[in-house]
Amino acid sequence: EITLFRNGKNETGWFNLHYQPIREDDNSISGILASANEVTDQVLARKQTEDSNKRYNMMVMQSPFAFAVLKSNDMVITLANDSIKEMWGKGKEIEGKPLLEVLPEIKDQPFPVLLNKVYTTGIPFYANESLVQLERNGKMEDVYFNFVYQPYREADETISGVAIIATEVTPQAILNKKIKASEERFQAAVNAVEGVVWSNNATGEMKGEQLGWAALTGQSYQEYQGYGWANAIHPDDTQPTIDAWNEAVRDRKNFIFEHRIKLKNGDWGHFSVKSIPLLNADGLVCEWVGVHIDISDRYRAEKAIIESEKQFRQMAELMPQKVWTADAEGNKNYFNKTLLDYTGFSFEELKGNGWQKIIHPDDWGKNKTQWEKCISTGQDYETENRLRSKDGEYLWHLTRAVPIKDEDGKIQMWVGSKTEIQKLKDDEQLKGDFLKMVSHELKTPVTSIKGYVQLLLMMLKEQEVTPSSFLETPLLRIDSQVKRLSRLISEMLDLSRIESGKLEIQKELFSLDVLLAETVEDIRFTNTNHTINISPDFTGMVYGDKDRIEQVIINLINNAIKYSPDNNVVEVRVYAVNDTQVGISIKDDGIGIDEEHQQNIFNRFYRAAGQSEENYAGFGIGLFIAKEIIERHNGSITVESEKGKGSIFTFTLPLEK
Ligand code: ADP
Repeated sequence: EITLFRNGKNETGWFNLHYQPIREDDNSISGILASANEVTDQVLARKQTEDSNKRYNMMVMQSPFAFAVLKSNDMVITLANDSIKEMWGKGKEIEGKPLLEVLPEIKDQPFPVLLNKVYTTGIPFYANESLVQLERNGKMEDVYFNFVYQPYREADETISGVAIIATEVTPQAILNKKIKASEERFQAAVNAVEGVVWSNNATGEMKGEQLGWAALTGQSYQEYQGYGWANAIHPDDTQPTIDAWNEAVRDRKNFIFEHRIKLKNGDWGHFSVKSIPLLNADGLVCEWVGVHIDISDRYRAEKAIIESEKQFRQMAELMPQKVWTADAEGNKNYFNKTLLDYTGFSFEELKGNGWQKIIHPDDWGKNKTQWEKCISTGQDYETENRLRSKDGEYLWHLTRAVPIKDEDGKIQMWVGSKTEIQKLKDDEQLKGDFLKMVSHELKTPVTSIKGYVQLLLMMLKEQEVTPSSFLETPLLRIDSQVKRLSRLISEMLDLSRIESGKLEIQKELFSLDVLLAETVEDIRFTNTNHTINISPDFTGMVYGDKDRIEQVIINLINNAIKYSPDNNVVEVRVYAVNDTQVGISIKDDGIGIDEEHQQNIFNRFYRAAGQSEENYAGFGIGLFIAKEIIERHNGSITVESEKGKGSIFTFTLPLEK
């Protein structure tokens, strides 16, 4: 390499120099023969090649791309750059070793086969985000690569191995996977929504393909772009929709609306719409996502309800009965014309507390409690009450209401009616008056018959009349029948007293257990066929009407005897129910009472079915009176019974403190 000043400048040139000594004949050196051959061009060319080789090597070896060359069938690693060594995580000294020795974990993964295929066929193989399980840092990891397997050719074009060029894309692949999963989830959500999902751009215009919308409306791509979608909306709903939509877009608030849409088949469908703005990181709207849900069925059902309600009202208006309805909470929300006409009030005047204006003050409290109970239990409501007419006259009405329930049994509303029963009440009154009169008229002769029979019996006993045995039996029969008759008469009188509110209770302090013992003793005297056992588990005083309580006891024991023809033991018990109550129970093993009759036997004139009059004489008023008497003492009376097994009647009285 020689620097020369040539062509007016310093230049570096390369030469092959040949210096040779010039010898004289005596072998002495007299000079030097110098010959030079400039080889600058060749040297420069060679240097260039060397440089490029070096650069190439550097490029490959230090490249961020992982690179390796595997040779021969065994895939011996002949070249591996730092990146691939790092990627494989198997240290620096891997050259000269077969691939599977370095990466035994990939033996059963597809890569050895793929490499072999490239080696034998010469066809390169490309892979994107391919999952490789590599043992790195002592544990198996899922790693993703983009890579190429390229056949490695010698100068003579023969394939001697495979070159691998790879980049690790694990973070991107995981991200892509997440995006894909989230897109799948979104799509599944969209599919799950029973509606049509669409999107509009930030300014509220429909952009791009909207498959759902197109399928719903039959609009073409061009037709629904921008605000074209609005053409599918019913003309009456178009402007309100656009106004509301623009407002939502302007204020960036959720859009909730209902409108009609012309469907692909030309029908109108009712839809509820909801759309929400999607915001970007800066809080700006990037798009609107909306969903249309078909509510045509609901709309039709609602319309049908309105229609049927209209029909009901029309029908109710024409009815001669007084009809009303109330909501589930019992607030009256409709009165028909007949009802309003009768009262002379308007709906506004009657609703809410206004109702009290037309109910007789004596009936109001009872009605209210009963009505409130029905509202909470859902039981039918039935009562008799007096209703004030516009002339100020109170007429008796039968009031009934039934709850209308939905499929789940939840009360939707109440429908009630009021029927005037004044005439019935008047007749009943007449009947009552008549019964009262008859009972009064009968009472005197029966009392006197009773007296005479007693007298005759007494005389018989004293042997004033003979022959005694012939007369005694019929007289005793007459006596017992007359007693029954007089008991019946006093029951009928009690009944009319109860009905006119004139049953008197005269309270005094008396010993309940003593009264019970005496009463039972009396009954035993005339009922020799039955055994009446007493369990006196209570001794003490109660404050009440002694005669009336006795009447109840007699009635219950007589019933127990009367309704147990085949069993003759009656168990009577007096006991303390708790600190505040005392109870008397009368148990028989008689015919018993069906459950369906049990709740009615305390009503007047009610007799359980299947008891023909011949078998068991009676009028069905004994228990009614008993109940009235006990309730007037603030006590209660109940029955437990099973058909064919017997009955237990129990009444309780409050204990005097
Ligand atoms: P009556 O006995 O006069 O019919 P009550 O008012 O005393 O009237 O009783 C009403 C009904 O209750 C009776 O008709 C009878 O069907 C039923 N009943 C009452 N007590 C008993 C009883 N101990 N066993 C079976 N049924 C009874």
